[in-house]
Amino acid sequence: MRLDVLSIFPEYLSPLQLSLIGRAQEKGLLDLGVHDLRDWTHDRHRTVDDTPYGGGAGMVMKPEPWGEALDHVLGAGAEAPVASHARPPAAPVLIVPSPAGEVFTQATARELAAREHLVFACGRYEGIDHRVIDWAAERAEVRMVSIGDYVLNGGEVAVMVMVEAIARLLPGVIGNPESLDEESHEDGLLEYPVYTKPAEWRGHEVPPVLLSGDHGKVARWRRDERLRRTARVRPDLLAALPAGVLDAHDRRVLAALTEEREETAPG
Ligand code: SAM
Repeated sequence: MRLDVLSIFPEYLSPLQLSLIGRAQEKGLLDLGVHDLRDWTHDRHRTVDDTPYGGGAGMVMKPEPWGEALDHVLGAGAEAPVASHARPPAAPVLIVPSPAGEVFTQATARELAAREHLVFACGRYEGIDHRVIDWAAERAEVRMVSIGDYVLNGGEVAVMVMVEAIARLLPGVIGNPESLDEESHEDGLLEYPVYTKPAEWRGHEVPPVLLSGDHGKVARWRRDERLRRTARVRPDLLAALPAGVLDAHDRRVLAALTEEREETAPG
């Protein structure tokens, strides 16, 4: 997979050289290019921002450096408008981090992990002149994506979050791909709690079933814990599960949890 990141703080992205994502680049699984947006400015001060039309606080990122930078990273795709149905499967997807975008989820990560070329445009100040997004949408698939309902100073941290979530799904990046199967958000449930040695630590014991060696019981316990944890922490996820995902045993576990809660509720 090819990734291009455009930013006025390219050094912000340096943690992407570390750990599994760094190793994925060494192994040739990931080809990451980080570009300084100011390389596409032409004035002495390398200006990338200007005051907003209509007035108001803050500055807006100017369209010209973005246009030239995108001409460069989108390559031939940027030359003329192309209808979405006529774009080749390897065509880049332009991802514009924004608190006003669709929310990034594990499903978004899976969708983007299947693409060949992702381009990330990190905004700063009050964001990028919107004509850049409109222009790019005529040439490439454009996704404005938020990593959550809060406001960051810039898109760099959001891009690191997205790149890490996407890249770990690529074949070969995680040593044991089975470890992805039961992870939180893969099938709508959160993961069960995990434990390692020693079996007793500061008076806290590992749940005995995990020491039983009975794989069936361990699997059932883990599923029950996933259901209980999801019901307690993220009932919205349970409510959104497609029909047929929960079997009769699952429903009994959830009903027991509801009863427990009713019994312990004050009043
Ligand atoms: N004025 C914008 C608004 O209210 O929607 C916020 C701009 S923010 C200060 C500057 C940049 O940070 C944005 O252009 C975007 O790149 C990034 N950013 C901030 N919060 C984000 C979030 N929740 N998800 C993704 N990117 C975010």
